[in-house]
Amino acid sequence: MTGTDPYLAGLRLGGLRVVVVGGGAVAQRRVAGLLAAGADVEVVSPALTPAVEAMAAAHELRWTARGYVEGDLDGAWYVVACTDDTTVNAAVGAEARCRRIFCVRADDGLAGSAVTPATGRHDGLTVGVLAGGAPRRSAAVRTALVEALQAGLVDDTADPVRPGVALVGGGPGDPELITVRGRRLLARADVVVTDRLGPRDLLDTLGPHVEVVDASKIPYGRAMNQARINELLISHARAGRFVVRLKGGDPYVFGRGFEEVLACAEAGVAVTVVPGVTSAFAVPAVADVPVSHRGVAHEIVVVSGHVAPGDPRSLVDWPALGRLRGTVVLLMAVERIEAFADALIDGGRPADTPVAVVQDGTMRIQRALRATLATVAAVVREHEINPPAVVVVGPVAGLVSGPVTDAPVTRVAP
Ligand code: SAH
Repeated sequence: MTGTDPYLAGLRLGGLRVVVVGGGAVAQRRVAGLLAAGADVEVVSPALTPAVEAMAAAHELRWTARGYVEGDLDGAWYVVACTDDTTVNAAVGAEARCRRIFCVRADDGLAGSAVTPATGRHDGLTVGVLAGGAPRRSAAVRTALVEALQAGLVDDTADPVRPGVALVGGGPGDPELITVRGRRLLARADVVVTDRLGPRDLLDTLGPHVEVVDASKIPYGRAMNQARINELLISHARAGRFVVRLKGGDPYVFGRGFEEVLACAEAGVAVTVVPGVTSAFAVPAVADVPVSHRGVAHEIVVVSGHVAPGDPRSLVDWPALGRLRGTVVLLMAVERIEAFADALIDGGRPADTPVAVVQDGTMRIQRALRATLATVAAVVREHEINPPAVVVVGPVAGLVSGPVTDAPVTRVAP
């Protein structure tokens, strides 16, 4: 309708009084955004959701614990009427109009003098979408825009990206398990240096100008050595490029990430670290093994199996691990699984302790099996489990015997 299209503006609310009438779910959502904008928020409501109550307790906002009365809007610049009572919201709207304060009516968008757009943020940008009273539509468009920005489908880089290196944890393999920041930096890369593990599917989304270097470090050091990788990162950054070093899982969980950071720092190359979702926790999770569970496991130890127990290079106290009652997560351990299981049993862990083994976790080809410390080596051999796999030892591996959640995976019974 002519004359009723809203005028989209951004309000600078820093330090300005904003009154929110109502303390329910809508208030909770609005208050978060208002506080992020630095507003001086007062919530008028006899009751609050626990989250808003916590904000009041932390003095992030003021709470007037009663129903709205005329005069509450005194001195306000902006008002949100979001009680579940239309009469109250209408009264708030009327007082706001009288006082010439813009007011949002949560119950009736067209009745207020202001509307809340669906908003999203990306790297310093704020996207706001209004859809004339169709909130699902505005939310869908907002989400699509933010996702397009995150995926690098929209080139929003006004300034050239600063050269340097970003060490990005890519998560365990499913391309949706990289962090938002990791994804954003990947979209800006001139060069991406990858490993064998990690979200390889994301590489398809890179533009044709992006140079992808595969630093596949097959276990036990058969490929490009670490010094060569460090050199590569440094030389690309020095040539003025933005390099994303994409690692599997979290860069600092048995990923040699800190060696790369130190090398860059020593060379005077700017380096930023983006933590990732580690396979040590995520891979058991997608196979219905929670690494901790109330009353079952109060400790989680993540152990590298890249050297055998008894190897002079080993830094692992296997007898101590054998005495634990909680969860032991073994990475890089399938090849020597027999030696690790024996070491735990020798250290005192009962032979019937449940074990779960998950290969290619979070990927389409994921396989999971259950065993015990006594049987795991034979079961791994029988089912031809290959790296990468995570081995979880402890009662958490026995909480359920089969799948509970749905995942598109092939499962192998013990
Ligand atoms: N930094 C990585 C771990 C590197 S060590 C992380 O945080 O996840 C490599 C080991 O991680 C593999 O041998 C395997 O034990 C485990 N791993 C990594 N990705 C995996 C996956 N998708 N499924 C099963 N195990 C995985």
